[in-house]
Amino acid sequence: MKLYLDPGHGGSDPGAQGNGLREKDLTLDIALKLRSILENNYNNIEVRMSRTSDVTKSLAQRTNEANSWGADFYLSIHINSDKGSASGYEDYIYISLSNNSATARYRDIIHNEVVKLNKLNNRGKKKADFHVLRESSMDAMLSENGFIDNAKDAALMKQDSWRRSVAQGHANGIAKAFNLTEKKTPDREEPASGSGQSLHKVIAGSFKDRANAEQQIADLDAKGYESFIATAQISGETWYRVQAGAFLNRENAETRVKEIESQGIEAFITTE
Ligand SMILES: [Zn+2]
Repeated sequence: MKLYLDPGHGGSDPGAQGNGLREKDLTLDIALKLRSILENNYNNIEVRMSRTSDVTKSLAQRTNEANSWGADFYLSIHINSDKGSASGYEDYIYISLSNNSATARYRDIIHNEVVKLNKLNNRGKKKADFHVLRESSMDAMLSENGFIDNAKDAALMKQDSWRRSVAQGHANGIAKAFNLTEKKTPDREEPASGSGQSLHKVIAGSFKDRANAEQQIADLDAKGYESFIATAQISGETWYRVQAGAFLNRENAETRVKEIESQGIEAFITTE
């Protein structure tokens, strides 16, 4: 499927501002994270973005681009503002659409996945006559991810891990709504088969829920450790293991476990 991903505002238009934050920076960061999660984890998706840097682009340019590309879905990422008292998440589809429309059904799925991970008060599913919803010729949705002028929401926005969780929630929703197929984990650190050597893999957690494994990868990344998901079948069930290193020398694996544990993340070694 073709996703047109639109980080709101940009360039001369900062969008909402508050608590030292600008909407245009937050929407761009969330959208870039969302694109990389989708491209890294799924096969059947193509993402085009309205902007990938801090540039000015009109609303008409955005919808014209999505329409001429023939996108299947238009997703616009925004941050809300009020007068400091309102807080939370809400999303929008075009005002005249029914609750049984295809757009509404896609939105229902995405909404449910976003609110699982965003730690925000849920303000619900809404409709509005916004340009990007009205002028886009495909199903379209706009999400408002917290209020920039609310101290509690803004404190979350300042965290890279929160922005990643918001991106992950949208990714999970898109994957579910459009039946995206997961990429197979590359065997990038395996020794040549038949070498007779065993490999000591450092596993920083094993999860039933892929989203939790993704979160662990984000936490490790923030602490400077590269990791990826290696799926394991145990008693017929799929587990998402977070592999943070693989070593031919067991001592090196033990050193890595100690380093990771000193950062407050538990890890263990599997030997194959
Ligand atoms: Zn906005």
